[in-house]
Amino acid sequence: MAQVRTAVTHPLPPGSTIGIFGSGQLGRMLAMAAAELGLRTHIYSDASGPACDCAAAATILPYTDAEAIKAFAAAVDVITFEFENVPLDAVEIAGQHAPISPDLKALEIAQDRFVEKTFVANLAIPVAPFANIESEADLDAAGTQTGWPARLKTRRLGYDGKGQVQVSNSDELARTYADMGRPAAVLEGHINFSTEVSVLAVRDRNGHTAFYDLPENKHKDGILDTSRVPSQLPQDLIHQAHDIARRIADALDYIGLLAVELFVLPEGAAQCLLVNEIAPRVHNSGHWTSDACQVSQFENHIRAIAGWPLGATDRHSNAQMTNLIGTAANSWPTLATQSSTSVHLYGKREARPGRKMGHYTEISPISSAKTREK
Ligand code: AMP
Repeated sequence: MAQVRTAVTHPLPPGSTIGIFGSGQLGRMLAMAAAELGLRTHIYSDASGPACDCAAAATILPYTDAEAIKAFAAAVDVITFEFENVPLDAVEIAGQHAPISPDLKALEIAQDRFVEKTFVANLAIPVAPFANIESEADLDAAGTQTGWPARLKTRRLGYDGKGQVQVSNSDELARTYADMGRPAAVLEGHINFSTEVSVLAVRDRNGHTAFYDLPENKHKDGILDTSRVPSQLPQDLIHQAHDIARRIADALDYIGLLAVELFVLPEGAAQCLLVNEIAPRVHNSGHWTSDACQVSQFENHIRAIAGWPLGATDRHSNAQMTNLIGTAANSWPTLATQSSTSVHLYGKREARPGRKMGHYTEISPISSAKTREK
């Protein structure tokens, strides 16, 4: 792989341009945060999306268009991405003309579940038992390794519960694998977690890392439904969670916002926290930071990649973020009447089932020091 620069050499002054691969809602929120700091954004995507409404410029062309990628990279001061499935070749070409933060390596790891789990396990951080599946010949050994029930997940392009199916025995595994079209996959032991939380860590180019309070996350049909702070996690597990994220971020010499999704095991389990997934980008479970923190995850990601000092991650309110999926977004007129609710809509025209159309955050005062995590 060609050498790519990973960090700006000096803080980018207002008026500089941040390049963003991807045009979804995360890119939109990054573009708005950048604008608050006087920074411009330029989106590169193969399809026009919600980010384009808020950016100073957009290039909508295939990720395979090397000349267009070069021109995009030459027009910006640093490049980031808002989704982890940006084709690596595109990022590599861009990286020869502008710094890429976070590093390409983070993207490469997060694009493949097997590579990702192996990377985390090699850092001696617990993950669910898992096995690689290249073909049908691997199925029996994989089942023996993970036990039942288990989850069959495609190695690539799975998100929001897509590309994964729970299976309870080897016959079901064989059938499901064939139904999926025999992709490269991992089999993962099913975890009876008590809760799910995520670490939202932001690391600057000097290796300084700050953390937001950990949200407790609930999913519906594999899609994040709500994130709530404070979580009920005890202090020692919060420290363990921070330590896990810090080790991952340090190993990647990471710059920007990193999300680490964790399963919390019931009390008495040998290991209390298991890493489910890492996301090398701003994360849905951190949307509440826009309404309940001095500096949001979006602004801090921009600050980190632009070489600025990180902003305060402190939370001034308790918060619950709820995603508006599909037609749930039609409730915006009611939500807009509620005084302690912030409504965020992404401007997507078609409310397809499972599509994230917006979110809202309900905030309430932190009533006593006891409710704070820090
Ligand atoms: P993922 O796309 O891998 O993040 O999975 C989406 C959601 O499915 C997770 O947030 C969990 O709620 C659930 N899930 C994924 N893997 C497992 C597992 N091994 N055991 C139990 N639940 C899981």
